[in-house]
Amino acid sequence: MTAIRIDGKAMAEVVRNEVAEGVARLKAEHGITPGLAVVLVGEDPASQVYVRNKVKQTEACGMRSFHHVLDRETSRDQLMTLIDRLNTDDQVHGILVQLPLPDHLNSKDVIEAIDPAKDVDGFHTRNVGTLWTGGSSFVPCTPLGCLKLLKSVEPEIAGKHAVVIGRSNIVGRPMAALLLNESATVTMAHSKTADLPALCRQADILVAAVGRPQMVKSDWIKPGAIVLDVGINRIPTEDGKGRLVGDVDFDDVATVAGAITPVPGGPGPMTIACLLANTLQAAKRSYID
Ligand code: NDP
Repeated sequence: MTAIRIDGKAMAEVVRNEVAEGVARLKAEHGITPGLAVVLVGEDPASQVYVRNKVKQTEACGMRSFHHVLDRETSRDQLMTLIDRLNTDDQVHGILVQLPLPDHLNSKDVIEAIDPAKDVDGFHTRNVGTLWTGGSSFVPCTPLGCLKLLKSVEPEIAGKHAVVIGRSNIVGRPMAALLLNESATVTMAHSKTADLPALCRQADILVAAVGRPQMVKSDWIKPGAIVLDVGINRIPTEDGKGRLVGDVDFDDVATVAGAITPVPGGPGPMTIACLLANTLQAAKRSYID
């Protein structure tokens, strides 16, 4: 391996410590304790684990955590009533509705019902629009974490060619907007992109957010490029437990790249840390407003 291994776990700890300091200051100076409400509908096991981690980390950095677990059969009206209540609750500064929702609930509808000033996931169209017009808004946590990881190895992003594979609203699109706001030249790739390996070979910065295990190989990489691997995929192993891998073939790509994030231990741990940072920001803004 020649590439620098970008340590998302260590960086997430730095972010969490900064948030904890910010929370302590806000409490001491203004008597405000930031509060994050997490709403989970149904019993998706992966979401349950993720929500548990969020609650634990929220409390560990001194914030209030409000945890709402709703039955899978919860109606649209019931969910909207809860969101309305959280929107007007002064103790709640950030609201996160865990996705995916059960099929009978329209996630777009639900996200639009969240007060944009409490939309710490950055999914509300008002925050999306602000991000794309170069303003200051809540930025979706996974791309925000990726940008912090990128800046830890490359402070000068302006003028670099960044290729983002994947165009989801959660990762690919906001990642591209963030890189554009940093004055990178950005190309977005997706499942219809022609000759993806050749395009990736032009990238100084490559972000993979696809959901295809180890798709990106060393012959897709420009020597010295920075590679951020957002993918989280479980592949089968002989012991039946499975193993987590990214969208990038880490061992192979690390022989050519200048720096690379591992999976696990890359953008993953940064996501919750950035959610906490967004919640602190929301609490500060509530004070200023
Ligand atoms: P989506 O399924 O919403 O989007 C996947 C994107 O990849 C789509 O834009 C799709 O293109 C594109 N794509 C699919 N196949 C190919 C291909 N063969 N070549 C090029 N592009 C392709 O996924 P998400 O963005 O939600 O997630 C992506 C990955 O990141 C997943 O592994 C997910 O688990 C992980 N993830 C990790 C997070 C973290 O905290 N680290 C948070 C969120 C996601 P098209 O639009 O044309 O269909």
